[in-house]
Amino acid sequence: MKIYNTLTRTKEEFKELEKGKVSMYVCGPTVYNLIHIGNARPMIVFDTVRRYLEYKNYDVNYVTNFTDVDDKIIKKAIEEGTTAEEISKRYIEECKKDMKALNVKEASKHPLATEEIAGMIEMISKLIEKGYAYEANGTVYYRTRKFSEYGKLSKKNIDDLEAGHREIKVAGEDDKEDSLDFVLWKPKKEGEPYWESPWSQGRPGWHIECSVMSKKYLGDTIDIHAGGEDLIFPHHENEIAQSEAANGKEFAHYWMHNGFLNIDNKKMSKSLGNFFTVRDISEKYNLQVLRFFMLSAHYRSPLNFSSELMEASKNGLERIITAVDNLKNLSAKCGDKEVTDMEKENLASIRQLIKKYEDAMEDDFNTADAVSAIFEMVKLANQTADVESSKKYLTEIKDTIVRLSDVLGIIAEKEEEILDADIENLIEERQQARKDKNFARADEIRNELLSKGIILEDTREGVKWKRA
Ligand code: AMP
Ligand code: ZN
Repeated sequence: MKIYNTLTRTKEEFKELEKGKVSMYVCGPTVYNLIHIGNARPMIVFDTVRRYLEYKNYDVNYVTNFTDVDDKIIKKAIEEGTTAEEISKRYIEECKKDMKALNVKEASKHPLATEEIAGMIEMISKLIEKGYAYEANGTVYYRTRKFSEYGKLSKKNIDDLEAGHREIKVAGEDDKEDSLDFVLWKPKKEGEPYWESPWSQGRPGWHIECSVMSKKYLGDTIDIHAGGEDLIFPHHENEIAQSEAANGKEFAHYWMHNGFLNIDNKKMSKSLGNFFTVRDISEKYNLQVLRFFMLSAHYRSPLNFSSELMEASKNGLERIITAVDNLKNLSAKCGDKEVTDMEKENLASIRQLIKKYEDAMEDDFNTADAVSAIFEMVKLANQTADVESSKKYLTEIKDTIVRLSDVLGIIAEKEEEILDADIENLIEERQQARKDKNFARADEIRNELLSKGIILEDTREGVKWKRA
């Protein structure tokens, strides 16, 4: 399996640190608003990387954080007259809802920056001790020039950076020894959230958060560190400088970065008015369509979002779901027959297509080609499956399409629909359970119905229900 490593700018054969295990850290969003569709891209593509590694039987330890202390969160809290904590809690909950609807698997660990401050103070202290950081008036800076490999990820030359930086003076950062130095800890301003530290009451810089969370949950050296390409510089460059200086070891073996999502070929921005949250899209489409759309391109290419492309994705996804549904209906009808020679030949073609799918994924996760292998299976199924087919044939094709779609996080099999009569029966049983004061059973029935998309409403005229 080959992975394009931003660090070496080449596709490299993947070799895990510990046999059969993969440690993976993905930089998560800053939670001050509903996530936008650009933020959804790294979530979807790296969840797909994880799913494929799991398909290959790796045990994946997948860590992705929430940045829950930041200027933008504080600004939003002031605007709403509430606390930064209230804002971040609210948007973490909302983000988790979106991730679920995008069928992003729950991370092995989802740390919050505000719960890891002690580790950050420890790492900053270590950097000061080793001469990689210094304190000035309550602020701690990283001494960038001291880290001789600075620029190795972004391929930036430190002297060019210096020249560019000299012009930019950030207010409150006058005590820097060098304009390239960046903040590890900063003192609070009036009304801002803060933590006690040896240097000042204050809060950590953004970069140190990820260095610390990655170390705590995955160790000093990890297999894969990932995020959007805008994070290469300065965020990931600074993470490397911090972690490698503090730990004295290589930080991550493979650095993966997704390309940007644009809208109608323009950068997505609120001021241009071409900005969509995932929630906006969910009003028009099932979010499986958004996921399918994201996987229609290679994760490193720029991706253009437009309503035409979303419609094409919707149709493509429906084609897969309909084929699976059809195979399922046929296999319920067909009798037990022997697999014919023709079917055997077709199943051999299916196996070749599995190989095509795997080859695409092994080549730096080429999901676009993997999806086209699934489409070829769908085409073969549509051309060959009918009431005369054998059950084994129909089931094997169906299971293959469902399994390979699932590795992409695409649910190809429709949930069994619950019939009206079954709903009525369950409601009656619930009423009886309530009469018998068996509230546990009554709740269980409500939840069971809810999981099937049936919402109950207790009204004065009795129980009403609707499909979500
Ligand atoms: P942020 O909350 O801005 O730190 O972003 C969270 C993640 O979303 C990071 O990995 C970013 O690189 C990624 N991201 C932000 N905007 C886009 C975009 N338009 N396209 C793709 N990825 C993005
Ligand atoms: Zn990060």
